[in-house]
Amino acid sequence: MLRGPRRPKVTTMSEKGLQTVLSTLQPHWVGDGFPVRTIFDYNEQGEALSPFLLMDYAAPTEFPPAERPRGVGEHPHRGIETVTIVYEGEVSHRDSTGAKGTLSTGDVQWMTAAGGIVHEEFHSEAFTKRGGRMEMVQLWVNLPAKEKMSPPRYQELTTAIIPTVKLPDGAGSARIIAGGLFDAKGPARTVTPIDLWDLKLKGGKTVALPVPSTHTTAVLVLRGELRFGSRRAGPGELALYTREGDAVPLAAGAEDVTALLLGGEPIREPIVGMGPFVMNTQGEIRQAFRDYQSGKMGHLN
Ligand code: MN
Repeated sequence: MLRGPRRPKVTTMSEKGLQTVLSTLQPHWVGDGFPVRTIFDYNEQGEALSPFLLMDYAAPTEFPPAERPRGVGEHPHRGIETVTIVYEGEVSHRDSTGAKGTLSTGDVQWMTAAGGIVHEEFHSEAFTKRGGRMEMVQLWVNLPAKEKMSPPRYQELTTAIIPTVKLPDGAGSARIIAGGLFDAKGPARTVTPIDLWDLKLKGGKTVALPVPSTHTTAVLVLRGELRFGSRRAGPGELALYTREGDAVPLAAGAEDVTALLLGGEPIREPIVGMGPFVMNTQGEIRQAFRDYQSGKMGHLN
């Protein structure tokens, strides 16, 4: 509960409460390019985080200059979307639809694997040569059963097309990647209703942002600290809110906060996944492996 004098005087909103703070200490490597911590995954939190399946956070890591790009080579996905947000560094990718590109600071890749895609994710050539700091988030978003076998597609959401909106009371700003806040609307085309906001909060400020009641809402802290009474969420920790309530209370600690808000309508369907495939039944998973092995998800040129 935020009861400070600076809270916006909006009496019709009811605030979501803090449900839990998730954190993971154990890092692992994705390929040889991305040292990540898995903040949540559908085996543990499938219902609680739905429609989100998995979040990998690569905290800032220095890479020395090198000759050969680090990363993860050709691999498939089916039944999901992968959303990659680059905070620092440069990531290059290629996929079997023919899409390719390089993402830099602030850019977002929204890849809808749906019926099947094959792709690779590497540090860019330029970043590899000069070295530097890499920080990114990859989020897996579930698709409803009726969309899991749709054709794949790819959206490159550059900083230039992501609108920024000011928060009330000089509390900071939000870049709206998906969904909407106040008069800003994100460029991502999503299959189910999703909000994805890159938040900057000024130290000591509190704000309550409108989101739909019944939606899942969670906030990953990258820098600074969010406070919930005596509880805190710091860098690499995810605050998961209750679904009830139509406003997300955010209270920054003394330092400025960088955080990523994810919200969405839960998909209430069975989740069965293995490796890069997330479907609804074991039979569909076996089919996914057969289809990948027989080349039906395509190839990289
Ligand atoms: Mn991938």
